[in-house]
Amino acid sequence: MSEGLIKEECGVFGIYSPEEQNVAHRVYAGLTALQHRGQEAAGIAVNRDRKIRYHKGLGLVSEVFSGETLKELGCGRIAVGHVRYSTSGKNTVANAQPMVVRHVKGQLALCHNGNLINSFELRRELELKGCIFQSTSDTEVISYLITRNRLLSASIEEAVCRTMSEIRGAYSLVMMSPAKLIACRDELGIRPLCYGITEDGCHVFASESCALNAAGAKLVRELEPGELLVADENGIRSVREHCGRQKEALCVFEYIYFARPDSVIEGVSVHEARRRAGKYLAEEYPVEADLVIGVPDSGLDAALGYAEASGIPYGTGLVKNKYIGRTFILPEQEQRNDMVRMKLNAIGAVLKGKRVVMIDDSIVRGTTSAYIVKLLREAGAEEVHVRISAPPFLHPCFYGVDVNSENSLIANGNSVARIARQIGADSLGFLSVDKCLLLASEDQRDRLCAACFNGRYPAGRPEADPETMAGNWLT
Ligand code: AMP
Repeated sequence: MSEGLIKEECGVFGIYSPEEQNVAHRVYAGLTALQHRGQEAAGIAVNRDRKIRYHKGLGLVSEVFSGETLKELGCGRIAVGHVRYSTSGKNTVANAQPMVVRHVKGQLALCHNGNLINSFELRRELELKGCIFQSTSDTEVISYLITRNRLLSASIEEAVCRTMSEIRGAYSLVMMSPAKLIACRDELGIRPLCYGITEDGCHVFASESCALNAAGAKLVRELEPGELLVADENGIRSVREHCGRQKEALCVFEYIYFARPDSVIEGVSVHEARRRAGKYLAEEYPVEADLVIGVPDSGLDAALGYAEASGIPYGTGLVKNKYIGRTFILPEQEQRNDMVRMKLNAIGAVLKGKRVVMIDDSIVRGTTSAYIVKLLREAGAEEVHVRISAPPFLHPCFYGVDVNSENSLIANGNSVARIARQIGADSLGFLSVDKCLLLASEDQRDRLCAACFNGRYPAGRPEADPETMAGNWLT
């Protein structure tokens, strides 16, 4: 895969305080709550007296920031932060965010969650005009466009609005200029972004509501698709030039896997949505069994829902080592196998002699499920029935979630019975696409993106073939 295909699963955060205070600490709290959205790099930028200082690095938030670095970033009135999980291409500090740039009208610090589908064309156009890029990330393309548009605009928000007309795909952006904090969401609202307020009057933006809470803020509402919110000394203001232009398409995978269960997205508790997925699974794929277990962490809520709906007792059959990072992103199959082994272990006393229903949120390559089925059998389970709280992954995602190319997806070209054999399960059931769309609120149900399951891409696919474009701008 070329570097041009970097896909990012990220978390963004921003705060505007009416008074100067230790904003870096509040961003730190918010980013820690968003850590599940990205574990490869983290960064915070603080604006003090219109000057932006920043620190970013590779690793977890707690690894990148010590008490000392946070102290150095110190106080200010505006700050933004980012956690990043690049799923292909290089994980370099150059690609870490916030992306801080200088332009004739000041500085800009930009954080991005999502993926553009026309970044290749935009980047080439800029390069042909002499722009030099330091990273391979599409966030740099956005920052170039904003700074270029700033020259033609009366305000930074106007420049961002113009940029929104040029970029296509998925983006939730949080950025700060010398005097303003700005957040905006793509016209389809593919990635989430919410707004909250603290008791001391700070305006806060975050990918998920759990991060608002961690920073002491209460959820006010989500940004509407296409909306831009500006926080500055005059308070908060909404710019709606891009609202209502397209049919919304929130990513359904946020409910299934990506978001934290204590977050609320479009008025729906993620925990409740997963529990409902378990209930639907129990209705669609009932089985006679003695025990329902979930694969920690993202399978637990659906397992609870399956147990409640089926009447089969819920139990803890697997324990996860909390101190190990993600297995999913390791490049070699061998490494992934080792990591899954280090990460999960079975509790024999619970499983011995039982017919077990094991619930996980998804099967991608099949590595995790195959390993867990084996683990459960070794621990004495008599039967293992696998239920997956998502439909089979059949298509890649171009909007910021790491779903691999078609040929590495186990569901591609394989029947459910064959996948069951490959992972060693006695039976296997995937949530149907119809039921999966019911995870959102009633008015949101026909406005979800489920492209990875049904191949219908609401923002289209990238126009240029990244592989052929790659040679034009990658060295
Ligand atoms: P696999 O072992 O390749 O079948 O991957 C399935 C496991 O990876 C499941 O346990 C999921 O919880 C997790 N997973 C699924 N999709 C993603 C994703 N986009 N990013 C990270 N982890 C994921």
